[in-house]
Amino acid sequence: MRAGFLGAFVLALGVPTGSFGQTVTLTPTPNGITADYRLDATSDRMAFAQADTNRTDWSVTTPNVSLTPNDLVSTAETDRFTVQLRPDSSEDGRGYIALTRLGEGYILYAPALTADGKILQLEADLPEGWGLLPGPAFDGYVYVGPTSAVQRGATGAIRIASESSPSAASATLFETFDKALAFFTQTFGPLPRTPVMSVTQQGAGPMPFRGDVTDSGMISIRFHGDISNALDTSALSQLEHFAFHETTHLWNSHLARPTEGSPWLHEGGAEYLALVGSASIGRIDQTEALAGLSQRLTDCRNALSDRSDILARISTGAAVYDCGTVIQWLADMELRQEGGQPKGVISVWTDLISRARQGQADYGPGDLKARLGPGSAVVAMLDGPAETRWSDLETILKRLNVRWVNRPSDASLMTAALRHLKRQACTGGVSYSLRNGSIEMENGPDCGQLSGTVTLVAVEGHDPLTSSASMFEAVQQRCARRESLNVTLRSREATIAVPCVANLATPTAYALTQAPPIALPGAL
Ligand SMILES: [Zn+2]
Repeated sequence: MRAGFLGAFVLALGVPTGSFGQTVTLTPTPNGITADYRLDATSDRMAFAQADTNRTDWSVTTPNVSLTPNDLVSTAETDRFTVQLRPDSSEDGRGYIALTRLGEGYILYAPALTADGKILQLEADLPEGWGLLPGPAFDGYVYVGPTSAVQRGATGAIRIASESSPSAASATLFETFDKALAFFTQTFGPLPRTPVMSVTQQGAGPMPFRGDVTDSGMISIRFHGDISNALDTSALSQLEHFAFHETTHLWNSHLARPTEGSPWLHEGGAEYLALVGSASIGRIDQTEALAGLSQRLTDCRNALSDRSDILARISTGAAVYDCGTVIQWLADMELRQEGGQPKGVISVWTDLISRARQGQADYGPGDLKARLGPGSAVVAMLDGPAETRWSDLETILKRLNVRWVNRPSDASLMTAALRHLKRQACTGGVSYSLRNGSIEMENGPDCGQLSGTVTLVAVEGHDPLTSSASMFEAVQQRCARRESLNVTLRSREATIAVPCVANLATPTAYALTQAPPIALPGAL
């Protein structure tokens, strides 16, 4: 049973100096939160400061006031109105989530309530045993709910969880949070505000897992569909890495602040520092760190290839993380080996963070590049000629004592062979799916005997799914001799012959076999 609403616990907490102009009183209900606005002047329109918040789950209960995507509009001048906040019904395509359930309480993205040009002053009318935290500035996620869900971790950080007995997932997240906080506090100094991690099983989905971090110092992690008790070891180690990554952002995005437009810098920074931190405290070893970097390097190469619009490419999608991590790694090795900085790229971040403490919070790519020499691999990658990007980079990697072998996965060999087969028969990219244990290709009408939807039984006698490496090798050899490829389709009586007139190149997949230690020197 919920406690009754016993009296008003008005939290008159200090807020930053500036014009107030707006007070919002939160009153929780079983289905959401009622937000009562009181403005310092009457108006027929109040614009929200955060235009990118999705408020489609909200409603207004004040007569003659309506809610548009980014405004509250009234038919008459008013200084009071009431908005019913309901938990977001979906996280799909949304940025910071306005309202999420956590047990009986809620995680609220407080800036979603803020009026344009005003500083949000929050008050709360709470049931007994409830609290509103963290304050004093409501500039990110806040928790409104029973204080019984709030605990302190080993480092003094706040943990909020909806479960009475923690799942393996939340235990892993909280434990890593404390370890990452200890590592980065030692490296970068303390955070200005108490860090908070909240974990809820009641995320709106449809993604099974999502998390983010806001200026209020709260990392919010949301599971959907009760998966957190059914995670295997590999999923738990991904959660560990995620917790390390998000904790890094408390310093590199919410203390020091990245300028707009180069997400690869702070995301790559968080991703790589998570790796350095995990290796330095012994959570992963050098082999595991190199496996992670091998994948990043391969994926970055596939994303960039010899494209010339590199800055645009590394600022969207997975390339933000893949290439961002590679850039940090290259800078780290160069600074440690040639730049007289035993702590490598960590020393760059330490400087940016201490500059932020002195009031100069903004940083951008120039701050990293200024630390590196003109022959730097980072400069070669970002500013060098596109056609020789990867051969130039490989030369620098060798100089930095990095060694590797090419070890494409079975999946990438299969994709390369099928793409080549398709190019020999027709135009367009390859699109295929797995159906009843076989590969089904969706081809256009200009593909000769491969036109339309076809099911591949074998190529050169090899099942593409179970013998992809043998299939790849056979296709490569026959194409080198300009011989036709023998393809067996489920729907046809006989094997068909597809002439091959171009060499099939082996895909590149870096498997790093040697590199300087990722862990900080002198670390455990
Ligand atoms: Zn991130």
